[in-house]
Amino acid sequence: MEVKEVRAFGTEAAEAPLNQLNINRRKPTPHDVEIDIQYCGVCHSDLHTARNEWHGTVYPCVPGHEIVGRVIRVGEHVSKFKVGDLVGVGCMVDSCRECQYCREDLEQYCEKGNIQTYNSPDKHLGTQTYGGYSESIVVDEDFVLRVPENLDLPAVAPLLCAGITTYSPLKHWHVGPGQKVGVVGLGGLGHMAVKIAKAMGADVIVFTTSPSKVEDAKRLGADDVVLSKDEAQMQRYAGKLHFVLDAVSAQHDINAYLNLLRVDGTLALVGAPEYPLPVAAFSLIPARRSFAGSLIGGIAETQEMLDFCGKHNIVSDIELINIQQINEAYERLLKGDVKYRFVIDMTSLKQ
Ligand code: NAP
Ligand code: ZN
Ligand code: ZN
Repeated sequence: MEVKEVRAFGTEAAEAPLNQLNINRRKPTPHDVEIDIQYCGVCHSDLHTARNEWHGTVYPCVPGHEIVGRVIRVGEHVSKFKVGDLVGVGCMVDSCRECQYCREDLEQYCEKGNIQTYNSPDKHLGTQTYGGYSESIVVDEDFVLRVPENLDLPAVAPLLCAGITTYSPLKHWHVGPGQKVGVVGLGGLGHMAVKIAKAMGADVIVFTTSPSKVEDAKRLGADDVVLSKDEAQMQRYAGKLHFVLDAVSAQHDINAYLNLLRVDGTLALVGAPEYPLPVAAFSLIPARRSFAGSLIGGIAETQEMLDFCGKHNIVSDIELINIQQINEAYERLLKGDVKYRFVIDMTSLKQ
């Protein structure tokens, strides 16, 4: 297979910093789109994977699954995109397309396992897939998204993971007017959840460990903010919430949040900490509560989310960085010190 060598940023080991390296991209096959990457968001999953916190990383690892850019080449059978189009790529680049879930537009739950944008087996090249911390990427047109032209481009990038990962459960559990919704953890995912749940018409209460984020949470649209370390503040919402979205990346007491749910309420976990979170039976039983999880969203739903954000003028709050600052950005991410998403200006890779 014909390949092109491109510049990328990645790591060779869990303990090693990210550095510049070269990777191969395939020449577009008839159904592929080649994209010049302009911006790439920095998701906490990038850090979990680069450092092998989920124990499945194959090195070298090139993270990045919040990709936006322009189409620079298309295969001969591509019908949805043309050169010059503004496009995005999120967490998936392929799936089996035949199983029950793929046929229901739930490719993220593909029975054979979806092919992730990085750290999945690459059926074309026999290596791992490499993500968006790179100059360009080649993706089957069925996994490429159309980006609304009216939004600020670098701030759109985080919608491709943080946006869809919060939109999908909010929609699945029918969040809307008349409901009180809790968002736990005001990071990249959490701050998108606030904006999207507000646009869906819910009352939103943010639960944060960071006193410095209280004012900001209100600016982002929250109706109320609770410092989760303050027991008295937590008690105010005991048994009051219809739905809670938990986007915390580290160990925390899940029972404290289950206890905020009303009868029949659901807590959906999207945060993916390295170790298990113990759940007490009596956090669930007395109020028929549900404890659930949710993985990103399907391709059709991702397009729907982008169009929703285009219509409601929703983008991420970002800090734009150069790729050379990525290791420093990871350290700040670990401390919850980002407002609210790092986005890499990929032109810095050419410096
Ligand atoms: P992030 O920007 O780092 O945000 C995580 C937030 O969690 C922090 O801002 C902080 O919020 C809170 N937090 C961090 N450490 C904490 C601790 N020790 N105790 C309590 N709260 C803590 O991360 P992200 O990119 O939004 O990702 C969040 C999680 O979702 C990660 O685990 C990521 O891998 C996962 N994820 C899952 C999916 C999916 O499909 N399910 C998709 C993308 C990402 P406060 O300062 O407000 O407390
Ligand atoms: Zn992500
Ligand atoms: Zn499938």
